[in-house]
Order: sequence, then C-alpha cells, then structure tokens
Amino acid sequence: METEIIEDEKQEFRDHLATVTKEGKRKWIFPKKPSGRFYNARTFVSIVLLSFLIAAPFIKVNNHQLLLFDFPNREFILFGVPFGPHDFHLFVLAMISLIVFIVLFTAIFGRIFCGWACPQTIFMEMVFRKIEYWIEGDANEQRKLKAASWTVNKIFKKSFKHIIFFGISFFISNIFLAYIISMDKLIEIITDPPSQHLSGLLALTAFSGVFYFVFSYFREQACTLVCPYGRLQGVLLDQDSIVIAYDYKRGEPRSKLKKGDDFSNRGDCIDCYLCVDVCPTGIDIRNGIQLECVNCTACIDACDNVMDKIKRPRGLIRYASLRNIENKAKFKFTPRMMLYSTILVILVSVLTYLMANRTDFNVNILRTPGMLFQQQPDGKISNLYDLNIVNKTFNPVKLDIRLLEPKGELKIIGSDLSLNSQQIVEAKFMILLPKESVRKMNTPVEIGVYDGDNLIKKIKTTFLGPVEKVQQ
Ligand code: SF4
Ligand code: SF4
Repeated sequence: METEIIEDEKQEFRDHLATVTKEGKRKWIFPKKPSGRFYNARTFVSIVLLSFLIAAPFIKVNNHQLLLFDFPNREFILFGVPFGPHDFHLFVLAMISLIVFIVLFTAIFGRIFCGWACPQTIFMEMVFRKIEYWIEGDANEQRKLKAASWTVNKIFKKSFKHIIFFGISFFISNIFLAYIISMDKLIEIITDPPSQHLSGLLALTAFSGVFYFVFSYFREQACTLVCPYGRLQGVLLDQDSIVIAYDYKRGEPRSKLKKGDDFSNRGDCIDCYLCVDVCPTGIDIRNGIQLECVNCTACIDACDNVMDKIKRPRGLIRYASLRNIENKAKFKFTPRMMLYSTILVILVSVLTYLMANRTDFNVNILRTPGMLFQQQPDGKISNLYDLNIVNKTFNPVKLDIRLLEPKGELKIIGSDLSLNSQQIVEAKFMILLPKESVRKMNTPVEIGVYDGDNLIKKIKTTFLGPVEKVQQ
C-alpha cells in the first residue's frame, strides 16, 4: 500500500502541464541556450530545410512552380507534375500512405520528426529563439529583463525583438501564401496597388498575425495543447519505440556531486538540473516519457556536457527504447512494426503503379446509354458514343479522334475538342460503318485520339449491329 502511494506521488507530474501553474495560469518557460553535437546537427538540418522551404516557390520547372498547393482551385503541382480534381484517388492514396508512414515511423523512432523536421520546432527553436537569445541574452538575463521595470533599455530590447518577430512572421506568411496561390500571384499582390488585391492583403495580414502570435506568445503550447500528432503519441509509442529517455538504471540514485565521489555506490546523475533548464517545454525528462517532450535533443546535449565534465560516459540521456534501458535489449522489429510495414509497402506499390501509368490525358468512351444502332438512309449502320477527355497537362490542346479499325466514318457532334490545362470536355460522336462490315451483334472498333498528327491514345470499344436472321 505504501509503495502504491509513493508510486502515485512519483507520477504526480503527469496530472498537470509543466507550463501551467497550480492556479491554472501560464508558466513562462525560459529555456537555457542549448549547445552540443545534436544542437549543431539540428542547426545544420534546419538550415537545409528552411532554405528549401524558402527557395521552392521560386523554382520553376517548364515555367511552372515546383510545388503548388492551390486548395481553393483544387490544383496542385508536385515537383513539376500537375494534379487536379480528377486525381483525387491518387491524393487519397498518398494521404493514407503518409499516415501509415507516420504511424510506422513513430512506432519505431518516436517523435523524431518533431525535433528535427517539424516547421513549428524549426521556426521556434532555430529562428525565433535564437533571435531572442541574441537580443535578450540567455535564460537568466531574460528572467531578469522580464522582472525589471520599464526602462529605456527594456523598452528598446522588447520592441526591437517584437518588430523583428513580426517582420519574420510577415515573411513566413508570404512564403506560405506563395505555396497556395503561386509566387507569380503573390508578386502581383505585393507590386499592384493595394486596392486591387484587398482579399490577398487581408490573408497576408491574418497569416502574419497568426504566426506572430504562435512564435512570440503561444510557443510550446502549440505542441502540447494543439498538435494532434503530439496527442497521438500515447497510442503510437510502446516499450520498443526509440525515444529520448533518461537511463534511470545508470542515473539513480541521483544526488549532488560531492568531493571524492567515485560513483561506485551512487548513480551517474548529479542532479544538476541542466537537462530541465534547457528544456523548451519545461519538463524533467528524468520523470519518464511525457506528452510535452518534442524530442528536441537539448537535454541530451546538456547531459553529455555534464558527463564529459565529471568524466562519466555520455548517453545518460539518449535515444533509446524503454526496453533497452530496462534490460539492455537490442532493437527488435516487433509484429506491430511488421504489420504497419506490410501495409505501407502495399500502399506505396499501388501508388507507384498508378503514378507510373498516369497518362497526360484521360479518355473515356462509352456507347450512349439506352441507344442501340441506327440504320441510315444510305444503308450504313451507325452507333452513338459519349466521349469524356481530361487534359492533365499544363498546356491547352486541340485534340481529334479518328476511327482506326474497321474502315468507316467518325463524326464528332457539336463541340470541338479544345481543352485548356486541367479542363474536362464532354462530347458525342457517331461511328458509321457499311452494312457489310457489321456481321455480328458486337463488332470491335478501335479509335485513335490525336494531338495534331501525334497519336496519343488508342481506345477499343464495340459497335452494335443488327443480328442476321439465319435462312431456313
Ligand atoms: S543533466 Fe544529466 S546529470 Fe544533470 S540532472 Fe540531468 S540527467 Fe542528471
Ligand atoms: S525532454 Fe529533452 S528532448 Fe524532450 S523537449 Fe525537453 S529538452 Fe527536448
């Protein structure tokens, strides 16, 4: 019973968020500036990812933006390939594959994405936080500045920081909008008189305001209170997932380092709290895995630096599975991981097949429902067909359809087959065959779709004819 009470007390930290006081007020976190090999590696990865994010809207392939997510018009460009509403099935399949990938990736590597690639973490820790350290100093100086009265120095530092924060938020919102409406349209909004693009300017201001609010005030709350991925960790992680964990077997019993300690009868943790001081979500990783941990690696670096100083091996806090810490078990590919991997391989294979066989034009030909054949006055037999063509290219085209097999005539009724990019055209056409060519109820016919003289697709269908009565 007593043990249970002690266990409950130990788990008490799980009853509240590290960033909320007992009275329910926001506790502002002043994380100490991290330094170390992981922080350097994350800085490098962030520079690469941010460079790509900023450069991509400026990159054009065949005169079209490399990446475009025009949700309002349902037009997308992925690495120079256009996708429209007719590719919805590919979009759904890609989304399902992505979700399975995230689930698998999280089951194996935990929240590694949050620490290394999530835009929220990258902008917060690698852009806004660095600027804050530069202007206001490290955690202690920030605390002092916050507590200080409003002197000229404080007003200057705070306003300077917030002007820069808003400027960067405005820049991010421009980049963000360029992915949605295209860089060309964004440049029009910026360069034309404001009265011509009121809605665009309104969107830019709204996005800037949201980004400014998130990075200057909301911060880690976005990860702990809002992000659905963070909330899913409880069901995605298990004892075999690799997470950032404190090796309590090696670290406990912890105590302050005293002169002459030889580590033979104590743990390696010297209770210096540096791993807590650097944590941007304000948690103590020594309590175990917590929802708030965004896997930023700051505590690994902090602890490794301490271990170097006290001449103990690095890795008291490290990437490891709980099973590995518990009994030194090596990484194991569990049945759950196998199941996710199999599903992922199947999904990706289907998606790859569909993408590889995706053509520039979708052409569908169906005999007009409810119609049989018609006998023409000149003795020819005719059938009426419905035609549906989708132009999936960037360019407008004027197509033509011709009868390839057997010999006969093909007449398009009404509209011509001119299509703009991503446009769908529907038309009717008639095939006329001499009576001698129609010897059975279903005669196979082959139709060619041409772009100028270039045959782009062959379609096979059937032609209905009268059934010859057998002479008695
Ligand atoms: S940094 Fe390492 S040694 Fe210091 S308190 Fe954290 S786990 Fe213990
Ligand atoms: S516990 Fe460590 S890895 Fe997790 S958020 Fe805090 S500092 Fe980052």
